[in-house]
Amino acid sequence: MRIGIGYDIHRLAAGRTMVLGGVKVPCQKGPVGHSDGDVLLHAVGDAILGAMAKEDIGVMFPDTDPAFKGVSSRDLLREVAGLMENEGYVVNNLDCVVVGEEPKIAPYRDEIRKVISGILKAGEDVISVKGKTSEKMGPVGEGEAVAAYAVVLLEQK
Ligand code: MG
Repeated sequence: MRIGIGYDIHRLAAGRTMVLGGVKVPCQKGPVGHSDGDVLLHAVGDAILGAMAKEDIGVMFPDTDPAFKGVSSRDLLREVAGLMENEGYVVNNLDCVVVGEEPKIAPYRDEIRKVISGILKAGEDVISVKGKTSEKMGPVGEGEAVAAYAVVLLEQK
């Protein structure tokens, strides 16, 4: 068994599309990023890489590489999942928190779990996603950023 933790935060700006867990969610602002800025999938990817003691997604997909400009983070996580498979690991369980004032996660929770489940080839019953606000405090609380945390447990196939 290997445990990994992932964290990500992206600045928010008007005119960007909010993508969380691979799902487009209606929102006034969206994340600024070289990719689609999906904090949740980035945190999940880093948790998996961390569990295998590999370098993080920032090293794997550098934001200086034009190949990753505007790329869907679903594709990035798919690559991480491929690496995990090659190393002989499967996801035992994954627990995630999205921190932001908006959007509310609950209505999209099951759709997000389904997307992550499909990419990681793990049952939806072992994937948990929940939302928290930052009680209007700090950059996240003031709606200037969205953040995510993920903890994953991998087991050898
Ligand atoms: Mg990121």
